Amino acid sequence: MMQLDAATLTYPDGDSRLVAVDAVSLTARPGTVTALTGPSGSGKSSLLALAATLIRPDSGRVLVDGEDAAGLSPADAAELRREKIGVVFQQANLLPSLTAHEQLTVMNELGTRGARARRPAVARRADELLSAVGLDARRDKRPHELSGGERQRVNIARALMNAPTVLLVDEPTSALDQERGAAVIDLVVRLTEERDTATLLVTHDLVHLPRVHGSVRMVDGALVGS
Ligand code: ADP
Ligand code: MG
Repeated sequence: MMQLDAATLTYPDGDSRLVAVDAVSLTARPGTVTALTGPSGSGKSSLLALAATLIRPDSGRVLVDGEDAAGLSPADAAELRREKIGVVFQQANLLPSLTAHEQLTVMNELGTRGARARRPAVARRADELLSAVGLDARRDKRPHELSGGERQRVNIARALMNAPTVLLVDEPTSALDQERGAAVIDLVVRLTEERDTATLLVTHDLVHLPRVHGSVRMVDGALVGS
C-alpha cells in the first residue's frame, strides 16, 4: 500500500519556492490502479517522485506498506525502493545493446554479492514476466527491433522484477496511438490485479479512465477530487 499524508514538495524558484505538490493525501490500495490526471505542470511527475521516494517531501509523510519513507536515511530509502517499488518512466530507457530478456536481468548482474547464485532464478523470473506481458517470442530482440508498445511492455516487465508492492507508472501511453495506448493501460490493470500491486498511473488521456479502479485530478499541485 502507498499512502501520501499531507505531502508537500517545493522547488527553488528565484527568491521563493514553487509549490509542486501541495499537501496531497492519497492512498493507493493493493490490486487497484489509481489514475492521476491533470494538466501539464500540475505536479503529477513530482508526486510520483515523492511516492517513489526519489525526493523527500518538505513536509508530510510518504508511507510504503505503513513505513514512513521520509524518515529513512538515503541508503535505507534506496533499499525500500529496490524491494518494494517498481517505476515505469515515460521514456522506456532501455539499454540499446541488450535484449529484452537482458533488460530484466541486468540489474542482478550490477547488484551485490550472490549474483551468480541468483542467476537461474532471475532468468526464470524474467521469462515469466516477458510471458505475462506477451513478449515470449520477442525475448531476444534489442530495443531497435521492438515497436514503441513492445518497448513499453519490456519497461513494465522490468519494473515488476523485484515483485514490488507499489507500481508507479508515468504517462506510459504518451508515445503511442490510441489503440496501443489502451492495450498498455489494460496490461497495467491486469498485472495490478494479478500481482496485487498498489498502482499509481499518471495519464493525461481521460479516455483511459473507465479502464482503471479510481482516479484523482491534480491542479496546481493540489488534488481536486475525481
Ligand atoms: P506534470 O508531471 O504534471 O507535468 P511536474 O511535476 O513535472 O508536472 O511539474 C510541476 C511543477 O514543478 C511545474 O511548474 C514544473 O515546472 C516544476 N518543476 C518540475 N521539476 C522541477 C525541478 N526539478 N526543479 C524546479 N521546478 C520543477
Ligand atoms: Mg510529468
